[in-house]
Amino acid sequence: MKIALIGNQNCGKTTLFNQLTGSNQHVGNFPGVTIESKVGYIYKDKNLELIDLPGIYSLSPYSKEEVITRDFLIEENPDVILNIVDATSLERNLYLTLQLQETGIPLVVALNMMDELEKSHLSLNLTRLKEFLKVPIIPISALKKEGLKELVDQVKNVQQNFSICYYSDDSKLYPFIAESENLIVTDYKESKINRLFITTQILEGNLEFADKYGIAQDTIDKLNKLKSKIEQSYNLDCEAVIVNFRYQVIEKIIDSCLKRETFETEEQKRSRKIDRFLTNRYLAFPILFLILGSVFYLSFGVIGNTLSTIFEQIIASFISFIDVTFFYDVNVVLRSLVIDGVLNGIGSVLTFIPTILVLFLFLSLLEDSGYMARIAFIVDKPMRFFGLSGKSFVPLLLGFGCSVPAVMATRTFNSDRERRMTIFLVPFMSCSAKLPIYAVLTAAFFGNKAPFVMMFLYGLGIVVSLIFSLIVKVLFKSVPPPFVLELPSYRFPSLKSTGMLMKERCKDFLKKAFSIIFLATIVVWFLQSFDLQLNYVTDSSVSLMAMMAKSISPFFQPLGFNQWEIISALITGLIAKETVLSTLQILLGSIDTIHQLLGPLEVMSLLIFILLYMPCVAAFAAIKRELHSTFDAILHMLLQTSIAWLCAYFFYVIGGLLI
Ligand code: GDP
Ligand code: MG
Repeated sequence: MKIALIGNQNCGKTTLFNQLTGSNQHVGNFPGVTIESKVGYIYKDKNLELIDLPGIYSLSPYSKEEVITRDFLIEENPDVILNIVDATSLERNLYLTLQLQETGIPLVVALNMMDELEKSHLSLNLTRLKEFLKVPIIPISALKKEGLKELVDQVKNVQQNFSICYYSDDSKLYPFIAESENLIVTDYKESKINRLFITTQILEGNLEFADKYGIAQDTIDKLNKLKSKIEQSYNLDCEAVIVNFRYQVIEKIIDSCLKRETFETEEQKRSRKIDRFLTNRYLAFPILFLILGSVFYLSFGVIGNTLSTIFEQIIASFISFIDVTFFYDVNVVLRSLVIDGVLNGIGSVLTFIPTILVLFLFLSLLEDSGYMARIAFIVDKPMRFFGLSGKSFVPLLLGFGCSVPAVMATRTFNSDRERRMTIFLVPFMSCSAKLPIYAVLTAAFFGNKAPFVMMFLYGLGIVVSLIFSLIVKVLFKSVPPPFVLELPSYRFPSLKSTGMLMKERCKDFLKKAFSIIFLATIVVWFLQSFDLQLNYVTDSSVSLMAMMAKSISPFFQPLGFNQWEIISALITGLIAKETVLSTLQILLGSIDTIHQLLGPLEVMSLLIFILLYMPCVAAFAAIKRELHSTFDAILHMLLQTSIAWLCAYFFYVIGGLLI
């Protein structure tokens, strides 16, 4: 049995999915967290396959997620739709329910957040709601695990959904609908999707279902004539007529089922009070800076740094222990591979795990508490000046962690312009993989001024992004569309969900360290230990790597660095940015040797280039996937590398003049 879990954004789908399947998907208090569908089995029963689909508000394809869900219904033929509805905002949720009902696919409604509804002063007449909708409705609380067993029993035993037709109550619209439905009688083949639904979809102008179910062009033309009649008779677009009708039905349902003593749940009331303070006209920005400032200060400074230092010592003693115990008397090539290549390379990357985890901990706390959505709201206005909108802020912020999830987070955008722009700018944010490079190089050259240099680099990434987007805004006179962001209620972040997210991140990072970076360290070690004749060389300046790097060094000459060791590091950085550091480590023997190659000005130019040049392969893959075009993705890479070159060049030239 294939069960599709469908509902609005933020109504608890993923929470329910996790409870039913025992899986660990991320639950976030931010609309649009579920961007890909996930599959699990209810109570481990292989006969009950549950698919978590992205949150949507209707089946009319206005946004990407709605297209995903609609295509799912067309292509995958689910046996049952489990429609999860947020009981505390029925009005908004029921639109989707009505549309799902029209499809004719067996439907069970899970009325979620009942715990909150009970706390509020709303009273819902469930019996009447059931009479109206004529489908099974099970009140549940996904969070408190209430009503889940009843829900599963109902899903197992659900009957065919009797083609409920609200339209028959409307004497003006119904004749049109009935006539349209008759028109497709001959073309329509018996299937899980009702004739009524295909009819309304065509009348609303969505032809995908008609295509799939083989409705002839001829019939569609006839339907279009009828559509014009409807439009004349209502003096309104046909789609609007149908949409309005559904809203009238909802109004009727709400009027008779829901009694309001107050308009807000306790939680919403509390949120409003908190918002009066946090999104206050004067306080919003100082608070935002304070919060983000502390997050970055704590993760990169106090906590992350301390933990990293401890971790580093542990790793170093581990490596020297291995070295002394096992490689005392072993072949030099093997020893050099294991100790200098693999262990030191991976070790230098692993030391940054604590910092990255702490950063992700804070970001996920911000998201779960509901504050992340407020950030988008607060920063919208200033970002519009630069031709961006508040919506871009969250992906850009995530970009400080890793470009891959950041690029993926743009999937919920409706505007293509904004999506492309945000995807382009994300790699300019210093991702956590660049942090180790900054940390080590600035510490080597700038001593106790290093934190300021790091701040400058982080800031520069932001400034370059803003300038770029401002240029696009002015040149092409294009601005992002206004957006409606629903502000979720503030909730206390759940430790379990946060813990799970951190575990995931840690796993991701370790997987990367032990696959890509592991491979990279071996390749790097190989390229720098052997020459063209595949002889083992002790002097790596005659190695394969040196030859490759030397051939492209003229390109870097104007930036103040053209040493093959550094260029090799930049090349391997494309595999994963952390690798820049491990390569330098391998090639120079010790990072301190870099003083013989570069001065402070050259290092700054190098750091700026590292900040801005094209992102790693993982990010490239994500960008390519989101843009649906290898060509566009390559264009992004070239443009980014050019911007990096120009910025480093200007800095080097101007810096040279000043000094
Ligand atoms: P999705 O966007 O539909 O997948 O929603 P999520 O599962 O991510 O949940 C959104 C928020 O609602 C999270 O903060 C959940 O903890 C919360 N939530 C989910 N179910 C319930 C419930 O039954 N009661 C209450 N009070 N909160 C819930
Ligand atoms: Mg979700």
